[in-house]
Amino acid sequence: MPVVALAVILAAGGATVAGEVEAQDSQWVDGVIMTRSTLRVDAVLAGAAPARLELVHVGGSRDGLGQRLSTEVELALGERVTLDVEPAVDGWRVSGGARGKHAPWQPWLYVRTTTAVSTTCQGYDPKPLYWRALEVPLTFAATLSADVSTATARTALDASVATWNALDCAYLKLTDAGTTTTPTVGYQRSGTNTNVVTWLESGWPQSAAAIAATLTTFECGTGKLVDADVLFNGQGFTFSAAPLGLPATADIENTFTHELGHLVGFDHNPDPTSTMYAEAAPGEIVKRDLTADDAAGMCAVYPVGQEPDLDEGGCGCGTSPTPGAGGAALAVAAVLGRRRRRR
Ligand SMILES: [Zn+2]
Repeated sequence: MPVVALAVILAAGGATVAGEVEAQDSQWVDGVIMTRSTLRVDAVLAGAAPARLELVHVGGSRDGLGQRLSTEVELALGERVTLDVEPAVDGWRVSGGARGKHAPWQPWLYVRTTTAVSTTCQGYDPKPLYWRALEVPLTFAATLSADVSTATARTALDASVATWNALDCAYLKLTDAGTTTTPTVGYQRSGTNTNVVTWLESGWPQSAAAIAATLTTFECGTGKLVDADVLFNGQGFTFSAAPLGLPATADIENTFTHELGHLVGFDHNPDPTSTMYAEAAPGEIVKRDLTADDAAGMCAVYPVGQEPDLDEGGCGCGTSPTPGAGGAALAVAAVLGRRRRRR
C-alpha cells in the first residue's frame, strides 16, 4: 500500500526498489538508536538506484535494548522488501518512513507492537511490548503547541489521557508527572528518564506527512517498555483544539489519543475506523474516542484482576520524576534531522 506519491519520490531523486537487507549496524546517538541497513537491490521498479543502498533509519537494538519510532520503517536483517527510497545526506532513507515500505497489511484485531515485526531485537524471540507497571507517568513540556495556548493544549491532551484511563477493564493508568522546561526525548542509559510529551516547531526529523510520532524504548529480553516519548510535528502542521475540530488543522486530542495507543504498546491497525489507523484527515476528530477494538486491546493486555506483582522485579515504572539534564527535544531533531527533508 504505497502512500507516498511516486512523482514525489522520483522528484527527490528516489526510486522504488526490491531487495534484501544484507547487513545492519545500530548505534546510540544521544539517546536514540540509529540503524544503517545495507539493502542489496535486486530490482529497480521505478527511478534509478545503485546496486546497494545504505539506508539510515531510527530504531533498532543495542545493548539489550530495543527502540522504535511509530512513524519509522522497520527492517529486519535478511528481510526481503520493496521500498520507496530517496537520497539523504548520509545515505538513503525510506520515503515517508513506514509509509515507504510496501507491506501487505494483514487484517487483525488490535495490533500489539511486537519485535516480530521488526529488526528491533536481533537474536531475541519476539516479545509483545508492554508496561510492567500500574501507572505510566507523563511529563508535559512547559511550552506546548505554538498554535494554541498552553492551557488549551493541555486540556486537549488531558482529554486523551482521560479517554484511555476511562477503561474500567484495564489496570494500566496514565498519570500526570507535571511539566518540564527541558523535555528530553530518547533513552538515557545512565540517568533518569521521563516519558515526555512535546512539540517540535522546527527541525522535524521524520516524514513531513507525520502529524506526530512516539518513540518507545524497551528491553529486548522481556518486551518491557522503559521509556516512551511523544513528539508533535509543529513544523508541518497547524494544531487546533476546537470542540468540533477545525478544517485544515490537526486536532490535538485526535492526535494524542492515537499516540497514547503507541505509548501503551500498540502498533498501527489497518482498519480505517480504528483509533490506531495510521492516517488522519485534516480536521478529523473521530480518533478522539477509542473504538471497541482499541478498548478491547487495552483490556486484553492490561486486564483488571491480572495486575503484575511489582514486588517481584521492582516497580517497572520505567521513569523517575526528574528529567534528564539538558538535551531537550531538539537534541533528537539534531540527530535525526541530518537527513534531507522531503519538502
Ligand atoms: Zn501512529
